[in-house]
This record gives sequence, structure tokens and C-alpha cells, in this order.
Amino acid sequence: MANPVRVLIVGAGPVGLTLAAELTRYGVPVRIVDKAAARTDKSKALVLWSRSLELLERAGGVERFLAAGIKAHGVRISNGRQLIGEVGFDQIESPYPFALMIPQNETERLLETRLEELGCRVERQVELLRFNVLTAGGITATLRDAAGREEIVEADWLVGCDGAHSAVRHGLGFDFAGSTQPSDWVLADMRLDGLGVPDRLDIFWHRDGILAFFPIVGDRYRVVADLGPADGKEQRPGPTLAEVQALVDQRGPGGVRLRDPIWLSSFRINERKVRDYSAGRVFLAGDAAHIHSPAGGQGMNTGMQDAFNLAWKLALVAKGTARASLLDSYSVERSAVGDRVLRTAGRMTDVAILRNPVAQAVRNAAARIVLGLSQVQRRMSDTLTELEIAYPDSPLSVAAAHAPRGGTLPAAGERWLPVAGDPIGSGAAPRFAVAGADDAAARLAAIFPDLVDTRARPAPSEDGLWLIRPDGYVGLVAGPDWQAPAERYLAAIATEIGP
Ligand SMILES: Cc1cc2nc3c(=O)[nH]c(=O)nc-3n(C[C@H](O)[C@H](O)[C@H](O)COP(=O)(O)OP(=O)(O)OC[C@H]3O[C@@H](n4cnc5c(N)ncnc54)[C@H](O)[C@@H]3O)c2cc1C
Repeated sequence: MANPVRVLIVGAGPVGLTLAAELTRYGVPVRIVDKAAARTDKSKALVLWSRSLELLERAGGVERFLAAGIKAHGVRISNGRQLIGEVGFDQIESPYPFALMIPQNETERLLETRLEELGCRVERQVELLRFNVLTAGGITATLRDAAGREEIVEADWLVGCDGAHSAVRHGLGFDFAGSTQPSDWVLADMRLDGLGVPDRLDIFWHRDGILAFFPIVGDRYRVVADLGPADGKEQRPGPTLAEVQALVDQRGPGGVRLRDPIWLSSFRINERKVRDYSAGRVFLAGDAAHIHSPAGGQGMNTGMQDAFNLAWKLALVAKGTARASLLDSYSVERSAVGDRVLRTAGRMTDVAILRNPVAQAVRNAAARIVLGLSQVQRRMSDTLTELEIAYPDSPLSVAAAHAPRGGTLPAAGERWLPVAGDPIGSGAAPRFAVAGADDAAARLAAIFPDLVDTRARPAPSEDGLWLIRPDGYVGLVAGPDWQAPAERYLAAIATEIGP
């Protein structure tokens, strides 16, 4: 017999866990299944960037991540002998002006702890075999458990958070367009001595290739190095510690001793993405939708933010508060972000792996000048920390006539600067916040009680009104005559108007 669920989430990596916790927090019944017997024990993604931390604060439990990680305050690039440039995070406008270094297995453990506290458990060793989209609405999915028993599940929505080899993406027949880069890389997760205070990401642009050190915790570090063009079709086996030590001696600052290997691996960079992140009632998020170079450490963070973006929309639609068309904005918004992340990570990689000595000299000279400019540093830190993510071209981003604009005023689609202790969207139901005239929030909440928070927030200009989405991005900016555009904006989302 079929078991009805509202949302079936396939995959309990960081993205599936984030989505399940958000939907559960909003009171939407979910099932989350994973074919693996246990969470990963690998450190994979090491950084939680500022924007992810801001979103984790609204989701609840950010303190645990802060307690489990260490703060890195910038990125330092050198050629092994001289400093080429630095990008600092201390000046960024966020309650979290740092990169939080925390191994992915810890991130997943903390996300799962939060999910269990909310009352939802991951069903492990349960694999999605196939699914059908029903013409009457909803989907049916065939799951298989560890004993080989098959179960048919009916759900209103299916979300594939099932990683790079996504069964959901295959089921949709979506093209994962892109390529595998023809170069080999090695990765070592181990302890080391001799690098100094672990408060920065250290990158060495050596003439023979890049070498990067990422602090993990205490004297534990990740070392990543490129080995140049691949010499065969097969990926290399993981390196020995001695091989990584030789790379560190050759390309690094000198005097660094590696010991106690935890994880030694090799990899090649894949750059692939689907065009659309959804088809009807089926969605893709995280690595199922986009994979790219680890340069910039954006993969997991981007995936978790896919989940944050989808969760409030799905919750409002599942509760009957918003029209189903709200869900169309998910693919528009997140596919555009995925395109940008792929481009940026690709560029960072290309710059880092230059091998021609003339090109390297030009790169290093240009970087010395450019990284000395405060605007460039600011731009780079906003990109890395994902604070610059915005949805200017989304159908949900609207600037009404006479909307105040310019200077530091947030435009439609931009991130609303979080206020300490008042994370928008942290309540038990996803609601738009209102920043404007004193009575604006109360007036709009009286008309849209399930969609608008009654509490007024201070506006950055007294001539305007800002409607802020539950994920902390500006939906509407309106001028002194805000009432009609704000009602129009909300009416286009709401299923019902009036108490
Ligand atoms: C070596 C390595 C280093 C990395 N370094 C970084 C880094 O420094 N920074 C960064 O941001 N990212 C990094 N990444 C990428 C990062 O790990 C991924 O972006 C992140 O794990 C994606 O999370 P996800 O939840 O989308 O997918 P995954 O973590 O892949 O989780 C998918 C889950 O789905 C399950 N699943 C798959 N198919 C099915 C099915 N049919 N039924 C049920 N369950 C299924 C799997 O068992 C898995 O648990 C690295 C990855 C690797 C491999």
C-alpha cells in the first residue's frame, strides 16, 4: 500500500539534510532516504561561508557549527618566496565575517542532529529506484530497503538531493552538460607542523603548479595540489604521504612536515550543470544540479543555499498559502547562481594552474597590483563568502515606480543585511518581513495574515517600503505610495486575500 508523504527527499548529504530540516521546521511532512548505510566520514567540503552561516542562523543551531569549526580570516597568495596578495574577510558586512573551517562530515553530523531534534529521521539504506510523475498531480516513487524489499511511495513533490550521479536527474532525462578537465589533482587530509597560525587559507602559485593549505582544526590541514595535464584516461590512485611531502617541499614555504594521514585521494575536476532545476513537481538541488571546480569552496555552500531557497517556497505552497507558480522561481533563481558559480570557479582554476612561465609572470604581476586595490578585495571577499548572491532577474524581484534606489539601499533581489538577533525567516512559518512606515507591516499582515509578519522592521529610507522574503532577499521595493504595489505583489503570490 502506498504511504502518502508531502515531500520525498532523496539523498541525505548536506543539501538533503538542510532541506529536510527547513521543511520540518515549517511543519511540512517529509521523508528523507539515503542509499548509504552511514553519513560520509570524509572531510570533503571544508568551508562554511558567511552567507551559509547567516542562513543557518535563521534555521536554528548556528552556534554548534561555530563551536565545532575554526575561523579563517582571509586568503593569502604567494609564490613560495614572496607574498603576491591577500584577501581579508574581517571587513565584510555580515555577523559572520570569516570562513568557518569545518569538515563536511562534521557539518553533516550537526545538520542531522538538528533534523532529529525537529522530529525527523533519515531512512538509511533506502534507495530510490525509479519514479513516475502522475498526471493527476504528485509522483510515485519506488524505494528499495537494505533487505531488498520494494515500497511504492506517493508524494506531492520529489526533490533529488542525490549527488553528482543523481537518479532523479537521470529519471528526468536531464542533460548534465559540461566536461571533465584533463588534469590530475591530489588531496591530503593530515596533520602538519611548521606552517604557523592556522588563521588563513594559504595558496602558493609555484611555477610547477598550485599548492594550497586549508586549516581544519588544531594541527590538522588539507593540502591540495595540481599535477598538470592527465597522462591517461584512468584517474590516478591516491598519493602516498611521501609524494605529498615532496610536493610541499618543492612548492611550499619550506620547513613544513606532514604526518598522520587521515585521507589521501586524487581527483579530476568536473564542470557540469543542468539547465533547469525542476520539472513540474520534481526538483534538483546541490550536486545533482551542478558540480564544478573546488576552487573557491563553493560546491556544498551553493547546494545548501539551493535548499534554503526551495524550502520556504515549497512550505508556503504545501500549506496552501501560496500559489504553485511561486515554485517556478526556484529554477530561475538558482540556475542563474549555478551558472555564475561555475564561471567563477572555472576562472579561479584557470588562473591557478597556468604553466607557461610568461603567463605566470604576467599573472603574478597583475595580481600584485589588483589585489592591492580595496574595491577588488571587497568584490572578491563578497564573491567567496556568497554575500553577493542576488536575484535581480527573478520574477519575484520587483521595483515599483518611485522606489528609492542607489547608494547602499538594497535593490529588489539583493540580500537584506541581517540584523544581529533578528534573523528574518526564523519563525515556525515562512513569512515576508516588512521594513517601512510604522503601521505598514500591520496593514499588510491584516490583508495577508499567513504571508506577512506583523512585526515592522526599520527601513533604510523613510521614503520607501521593502518586502523581505523569508530567505532574507528583497522581494519588492516600493516608494511612498507603497500600499498598492505591495498588495499587488503579495496578491500575485497568495492563494487567498483577507482574514
Ligand atoms: C574529494 C572531494 C573534495 C571536495 N571538496 C570540496 C570543497 O573543498 N568545498 C566544497 O564546497 N565542496 C567540496 N566538495 C564537494 C562537496 O562535497 C559537494 O558539493 C557536496 O557533498 C554536495 O552535497 P549534496 O548533498 O548535493 O550531495 P552528496 O553529498 O553527494 O550527497 C548525496 C547523497 O545521496 C545519496 N544517494 C545517491 N543516490 C541515491 C539514490 N538513488 N537513493 C537514495 N540515496 C541516494 C548518496 O548516498 C549521498 O549520501 C568536494 C567533494 C569531493 C568528492
